Formats: sequence, C-alpha cells, structure tokens
Amino acid sequence: MKIIMLGAPGAGKGTQAKMIADKYGVPHISTGDIFRANIKNGTELGMEAKKYMDQGLLVPDELTVKILLDRVAKDDCEKGYVLDGFPRTIPQAEVLEEALANIGDKIDFAIDVDVPDENIVRRMSGRRACLSCGATYHIEHVPPKAEGICDRCGKELVLRDDDKAETVKNRLNVYHEQTQPLIDFYEKKGVLKSVDGTVDMQDVFVAIVSILGE
Ligand code: ADP
Ligand code: ADP
Ligand code: ZN
Repeated sequence: MKIIMLGAPGAGKGTQAKMIADKYGVPHISTGDIFRANIKNGTELGMEAKKYMDQGLLVPDELTVKILLDRVAKDDCEKGYVLDGFPRTIPQAEVLEEALANIGDKIDFAIDVDVPDENIVRRMSGRRACLSCGATYHIEHVPPKAEGICDRCGKELVLRDDDKAETVKNRLNVYHEQTQPLIDFYEKKGVLKSVDGTVDMQDVFVAIVSILGE
C-alpha cells in the first residue's frame, strides 16, 4: 500500500500519517523530518536545506528527490509506505511516478487533508515538536503529559523556527502556488481522496480508514 498525504502545512498530515503507519504496518516517511534530523546533526545536506526552510521556501527538487528515492529503496518499504510532505511540486510527483513505473508500480491513494487557511495559522502557533523522535503535539488539542516534554522519548519539545506566524504565511503562499496543483494531478490519475481535516483527529482517522479499508 503506497500512500501520499496532501494538504497545507499544519493540516494534520504528519498526525494522520503516523496513525496510518501504526495501523497498517508501513513506514512513515517525512521529508521534513529527514531534513530536520540532518540540521540537528549538522550535515551538509542539513545546512543547505535550512537556508530554504527558515524562509518558508521549498528545498530545491534535485536535493529532495534524491533523498526520497534513496529512502523508498530501503528494504522496509517493500510492503509500501506513507509519504508525508512529499511530493510538494509537480516535478517531484513526476519523478516519483516514473521511478515507480520503472518497477511496475504506482501510488494507490493520495489523501488530501483539507483545512482552510484561517485555521492553519492558529494551529501552527500551538504546534510543539520533538526533534529527537519526530512526535508532534499541540498545546491545546494534543498536549503532552508533562508540559514541554515528549511523551514518547522524554526529550524537550520546541516551537519549530518555521512555525512562527510570519513564516507560516510564506509557507501557505508556497503551498497554494506549488503544492496545491498536485490535487488536480492525482485527481486525474484517479487516486485522489479528500477528507475534512477540521474535525477531531480521531474522526479524521476514521474517514481515512474508511478509504483505505480495515
Ligand atoms: P509541515 O509539517 O508543516 O507540512 P514539513 O515538516 O513537511 O512541514 O516541511 C518543513 C519544511 O521542509 C518545508 O517548509 C520545506 O522547506 C522543507 N520540505 C519538506 N519536504 C519537502 C519537499 N518535498 N520539497 C521541498 N521542500 C520540502
Ligand atoms: P502537518 O504534518 O500537516 O504539518 P501536523 O500533523 O504536524 O500537520 O499538525 C499540525 C498541528 O495541529 C499539530 O500541533 C497537531 O498536534 C495539530 N493537529 C493535528 N490534527 C489536528 C486536528 N484534527 N485537530 C486539531 N489539531 C490538530
Ligand atoms: Zn520524542
């Protein structure tokens, strides 16, 4: 089962992708998490990616595509995967499609988590992230058990640099210009499914399970 999560920054792609990964036993692959891990470890890739991420811009396709193709070639991806934050541009989607076609394969579902812009800025300012294990919380909707501490690994939670209101506005513009066209792209391929992302996260998941099957 190969799944793509679509949606604006903060729509809940990561939250749902983790639940899908747990239920269906496929890896959750987030290009954002891969970049953040590289930034944390001070790699060359991390330094390069950070220049773009801090401004709310996309990391160039050449860099992103290579990382993603390397990742999905790993053994744990044989049964499928859920991609969170990739593709984000039409050229990225085309490269992925071609790579899959070369092995006689394709994407099964592109799930668009739909949340209007008005809700997004509010959501992002409340998001707290664990840069160690990738877990995500929300100070009102999904609070950790102990304030500022990750439930899963005990490390400190942070407000991501790119979740500040100014940068979020840039990211929303970038989303509308470069990523939203993917909704049409996957609609034409016949694999697009949309869910209402404004409801409670458990209810969003129920809608997704009804699409993917029990
Ligand atoms: P969000 O969870 O808000 O959607 P992500 O963690 O997916 O954010 O991505 C954070 C940042 O990492 C993006 O704003 C972008 O700079 C970079 N990034 C992640 N995935 C991609 C991608 N597929 N193409 C280009 N840039 C990406
Ligand atoms: P994305 O990966 O699309 O950027 P996240 O999954 O990180 O989005 O969610 C963004 C923020 O909104 C996080 O703080 C998360 O805990 C919170 N969140 C996720 N889903 C919901 C929901 N259905 N209702 C309210 N808040 C949510
Ligand atoms: Zn953690």
